[in-house]
Amino acid sequence: MPKTMTRLTRPADERVNWPASIPFFIAHLACFAVVFTGITWTAVWLFVGMFATRSIFVTAGYHRYFAHRAFKLNRFWQLVFAFQAQATAQKGVLWWASNHRDHHRYSDTDADVHSPRKGFWWSHVGWILCDKFKPTNYDGIKDFAKFPELVWLNKHDWVAPWAYGLAAFAIGGWSGLVVGFFWSTVLLWHTTFSINSVMHVYGSRRYDTPDTSRNSMLLALLTGGEGWHNNHHHFQASVRQGFFWWEIDFTFYFLVALSWIGIVKDMKRVPERVIRPTEERDLERV
Ligand SMILES: [Zn+2]
Ligand SMILES: [Zn+2]
Repeated sequence: MPKTMTRLTRPADERVNWPASIPFFIAHLACFAVVFTGITWTAVWLFVGMFATRSIFVTAGYHRYFAHRAFKLNRFWQLVFAFQAQATAQKGVLWWASNHRDHHRYSDTDADVHSPRKGFWWSHVGWILCDKFKPTNYDGIKDFAKFPELVWLNKHDWVAPWAYGLAAFAIGGWSGLVVGFFWSTVLLWHTTFSINSVMHVYGSRRYDTPDTSRNSMLLALLTGGEGWHNNHHHFQASVRQGFFWWEIDFTFYFLVALSWIGIVKDMKRVPERVIRPTEERDLERV
């Protein structure tokens, strides 16, 4: 299994479908409509609120719950987490989690859907704009595909982002829509995508994992704790990705708070022997 950045060649069917990607680029262009709408204080608060809330649900929902089952929710809260995650316009929850499970299964090999060894831009966003990876592989997420409400939400992945967009417009008018919704959505796309691209290229490695994953405080602060990506590849099932007290992980704190009121249950912890860096454990064996 590779730890180096030697380049992999993408097969012919791994190419961006540019015409089908137009809505993705229009969402970026919509951010520039601020020159017409201006920035109101309501829009600023919408931006902050929509970015922070949805950032937490990308990691608590799409990632730690649906992809890794790091804690338990009842069926109602599971649906709430799915809706809030999908409000980020990062496609269906079953699509997201199934692809992510594949990322861990095949990290940085030919079969990895978004290894930076296939190109930085590809790992960041190219793979999302490629027809090959558009369908949901329900076989990879059978444990959640048995819930009809999740399958419905997964198929109608526009519902949650449109609800957020309309709410932003209703609360803040055109400035609310452009700054509150589009700015936060586009920024959130790129902070999330950075985990697949930047966090397999830049940062430090505490654990000698067979992939190229890395840790970064900056990305952890921007993504609600996802920047501890080398930790995460080392022990995927953990509800917390910051393994030490100084490794800030807002999503973990949020889930702990939800566990106090009984919404989140059975949080999976990191065993003490797993936390120690690779060198320390190697020394013990000598
Ligand atoms: Zn990774
Ligand atoms: Zn993961």
